[in-house]
Amino acid sequence: MRSLETMRNIGIIAHIDAGKTTVTERILYHTGRIHRMGNVDEGTTVTDFMPQERERGITIQSAAVSCTWRGHQITIIDTPGHIDFTAEVQRSLRVLDGGVVVFDGVAGVEPQSETVWHQADRYAVPRICFVNKMDRTGADFWHVVRMIEERLQPAPVAVQVPIGAEKDFRGVVDLVAERAYLYEGNGEGQCEVGPIPPEMADEVARRREEMVERLADVDDEVAERYLEGGDLSPEFLRAALRKATLARHIVPVLCGSALRNKGIQPLLDAVVDYLPAPHEVAAVRGHHLATGEEVTCPVDPDAPLAALAFKVNTDPYIGRLVYVRVYAGVLRRGDTVLNASTGKEERVGRLVRMYADRREEVEALPAGDIGAVLGAREVSTGHTFCGPDRPVALENIQFPQPVLSLSVQPRTRADQDRLMEALQKLAEEDPTLHLRQDPRTGETLLAGMGELHLDVAVDRLRREFGVTALVSPPRVAYCETITRPARAEGRLAKQTGGRGQFAHVVLELEPLPEGSGVVFEEALRGQNVPRQFVPAIEAGVRDALARGVLSGNPVVDVKVTLVDGKAHEVDSSDQAFHTAAGLAIKEGVRRGAPILLEPVMRVDVQVPGEFLGDVLSDLMARGGQVSSMAPRNGTLQGVQAQVTLASMFGYATALRSLTQGRGTFSMEFHRYAPVPEKVAQEILRRGER
Ligand code: GDP
Repeated sequence: MRSLETMRNIGIIAHIDAGKTTVTERILYHTGRIHRMGNVDEGTTVTDFMPQERERGITIQSAAVSCTWRGHQITIIDTPGHIDFTAEVQRSLRVLDGGVVVFDGVAGVEPQSETVWHQADRYAVPRICFVNKMDRTGADFWHVVRMIEERLQPAPVAVQVPIGAEKDFRGVVDLVAERAYLYEGNGEGQCEVGPIPPEMADEVARRREEMVERLADVDDEVAERYLEGGDLSPEFLRAALRKATLARHIVPVLCGSALRNKGIQPLLDAVVDYLPAPHEVAAVRGHHLATGEEVTCPVDPDAPLAALAFKVNTDPYIGRLVYVRVYAGVLRRGDTVLNASTGKEERVGRLVRMYADRREEVEALPAGDIGAVLGAREVSTGHTFCGPDRPVALENIQFPQPVLSLSVQPRTRADQDRLMEALQKLAEEDPTLHLRQDPRTGETLLAGMGELHLDVAVDRLRREFGVTALVSPPRVAYCETITRPARAEGRLAKQTGGRGQFAHVVLELEPLPEGSGVVFEEALRGQNVPRQFVPAIEAGVRDALARGVLSGNPVVDVKVTLVDGKAHEVDSSDQAFHTAAGLAIKEGVRRGAPILLEPVMRVDVQVPGEFLGDVLSDLMARGGQVSSMAPRNGTLQGVQAQVTLASMFGYATALRSLTQGRGTFSMEFHRYAPVPEKVAQEILRRGER
């Protein structure tokens, strides 16, 4: 079995258009697994396997692709670049151990790059940077390094110097080994490794010294040797760079041109040299199913199994693929394991590892490894596989509530069933896509994280499932919550001829802090309610909370405690308790002084200074709260503000006309906040949701 030291699970992290797909593609090419180079512009890449990704040139589904370099297995977990796809981003950041952040050599650090960077911060991902597109007119490596330094943490350390610039970009000098990688061939990436071009000797010496000084800032041993003029061999520096990168004290910065096939081999070397092996990052944590205690699962093939299903895909040829990251133990074909999330046992079917051009069946996936299980019908994203000897649920990924919704209708009656089936499949694959019924109009609503997110989902309906749907324009997805504790009862007592229906449920509701979701607790005393009905009561509670009393939107951030009730020996059933719990919830939410919540976005705008005034007054007019303003590289001004999503419709167009097309912005979900009373009444009157 492969040793942990020789595994790297990495993500290529970038916002759209920086060149993530091309970099991935070139890595797969150079690691020798594919023989024909794909090119995004021709629509023939390997990691993006959904048709519309190719068309749009964006990556929205994470796939894990493995390749081999210098005896190491590098598995690339594809990370989506668009911020709309929050669940996808979080999921992939969680399972990877290190990241390669790709920047555009001309544009450098853009607002969207900052967003993806901060997400990687949240998951404490050690990373290296690749300044791509060095062949473009206006590309400037040192400018990008300065931008990284000004805007991002930790400090960048350039470990290369570009040779030539723009259309004459010819390769890179590796400052660690003091070798030049020159690409003079036919563009297929053959490189000659040789001595530093003599005319660059001074620059290289100066940059190497800078590199060592920066390392010395974070590493005492380097500082000592540097001051004492001791040995600064490539091996020594490489080890120091590795240590500092893993500790997230620095980020090594490299450069190249993926499109022109330059700088890819040194990038692969850097992945092996500077990014962590699975056991070199913090151990994953979960909860013991029986005791609820926190369990840490260090990467160890001899420990009991702990593996996370992080992705479900339906492959047109082989069917359902559940991508798993194994943290501890070994996932073996044919073994029976426990699905901690459903409580059911699961027989592990065929296991595969994906390569660029083929699938390889494997007998086992050891701790640290990533692969996919075929079939596994009952497994969804976020589920944990574990051994019965250590029943552990790896912390569930917390996904934000969707912020936009649209109504979806079949074009013809005949399409109805197929549409619902397809929508359910989509929602199952992507936990940030929610499906619900509007209780008032009966319409089917699809809710997601942004316009593009919903757009892509609707597109997939047509392409993958062959159903065309009629959709409404997207609307803000509101939520409800309660503002004070309440106690309520639900009682069902029906006597209709034969067997009756009886159930009585007493619930206590209390508001929880923002982002807590729904928490259910059973605190029954005595035997008034036989415990066998508790699951049905919880299901009734959750179903009822999915449709609030004000607007029919989900009720969030509430704790529901089952405190009492009554049963009848003959007439009580799961169904009766489910209904009674629903009645109690309706009553309880009403008594809890419910309010409407709306999504507030964190908006980041970047504009040339002369437009700042107009942009600020426009943001104010939208009710935005400006939280910070700072100059960005020279003539640009950055503004960060919090604005309700409802006020952000059409912002792209507005910003364009305010700034003669020179302003850019990005936004991500920030929080749900109460809708002002007056506005809430207006919304409820219009029946909007
Ligand atoms: P992604 O959206 O981050 O996956 O980016 P892509 O890999 O799809 O690249 C976006 C565009 O930039 C495509 O048109 C690529 O051909 C182009 N591109 C990628 N790498 C380079 C490069 O090194 N130099 C130049 N000039 N263009 C590049």
